[in-house]
Amino acid sequence: MITKQYLTEKVQNGARISAEEALEMWRLFEFSELATLAQIVRFRNNPERNVTYLIDRNINYTNVCNSDCSFCAFYRHNPRDPEAYVLSRETMTEKVAEAKELGATRILLQGGHNDELPYSFYIEMIDWLHTTFTIDLNAFSPSEIHQMTLVSGRTAGEVLRDLKAVGLHGLPGGGGEILDDEVRKRISPKKISAGRWIEVMEEAQKLDLVTTATMVIGFGETLQHRVNHLQRLRDLQDRSLAAGHPGFNLFISWTHQFNERTSLGRSRHAANYGAGAVEYLKNVAFSRIFLDNIKHHQSSWPTCGPDVAEIGLHAGCDDIGSTMMEENVVSQAGAPTATKWSMSPEELEIHIRQAGFTPLQRDSSFNIVRRSESHDHEQETIAHGA
Ligand code: SF4
Repeated sequence: MITKQYLTEKVQNGARISAEEALEMWRLFEFSELATLAQIVRFRNNPERNVTYLIDRNINYTNVCNSDCSFCAFYRHNPRDPEAYVLSRETMTEKVAEAKELGATRILLQGGHNDELPYSFYIEMIDWLHTTFTIDLNAFSPSEIHQMTLVSGRTAGEVLRDLKAVGLHGLPGGGGEILDDEVRKRISPKKISAGRWIEVMEEAQKLDLVTTATMVIGFGETLQHRVNHLQRLRDLQDRSLAAGHPGFNLFISWTHQFNERTSLGRSRHAANYGAGAVEYLKNVAFSRIFLDNIKHHQSSWPTCGPDVAEIGLHAGCDDIGSTMMEENVVSQAGAPTATKWSMSPEELEIHIRQAGFTPLQRDSSFNIVRRSESHDHEQETIAHGA
């Protein structure tokens, strides 16, 4: 029989929790109990009382998308829609220059699946950004890579190799939502399957691109769906690490945002969707325990707010995310980022200190860029790559 004591001892001894045990664990433990166990795993992986953050900017290069996800208010299906756009190089230059001014070390570049963009558009955009700016380019979710395979006739591995050759640094884990096809068929039937998401990510990890794992809860998924999602991520991470690749360097989860601008939000089942702060935090702690092979876990401020993110730092997380500078996707579906879409590095540091940790600025590969030693903001520069 799976008891609380048995599960507690397993986590304390560094043993792995099986999928069956995880289902039982969610039912048996309160949030605060899971948070205590998650902190054991957190400090086993990251012994110092440091919490990292990243200065970056999100740029959405196009909002035209053929996927029609029921939870998305960002996209325009028709490229002729007056609100449809593809960013010009001038606009992108302004955005990247502004980010560099703030000290950004990364640009997160994501967009819709725009059938009017040829393969050369993506290659030339990364090539141009890479040769014009010194900044990490973490771009495209697995579903955007899949879109590129459709317009080019190339395999995902070939597309990723082409992009890496012109300067792609990493592949963010966007579009993962819940990696279970029962859920995906209901909320985003035109988007790639869970298996394809994993397949593309595995190709990226074989090329040693920087990759992050994500999870979005609150689509009316069951606990079994969530465990299936985490199991897929953990299995891929095991394979990549065993093959000598770095695998995912970070796990990030957040809650599904929905308002009347999304078809899910307008649905008569809307009351079944979403997740509150306690549910989010419990999932944060649960994921840290289950994903014992991903070193860094992020407590995300954009959807539940920075105060909840502070609590997440006591539920297994050692990273608080990034400045973002702009957010165009979850904010349009009702996230707090609609009114507060950016955090300054100082604000992130305040939240980290308020939670009782030392802030460290990192880059997207988790190299430490800068340490703020004391509360009077005296800063010490640490060699990049230390
Ligand atoms: S979530 Fe992404 S893939 Fe889905 S409709 Fe919006 S932009 Fe397109």
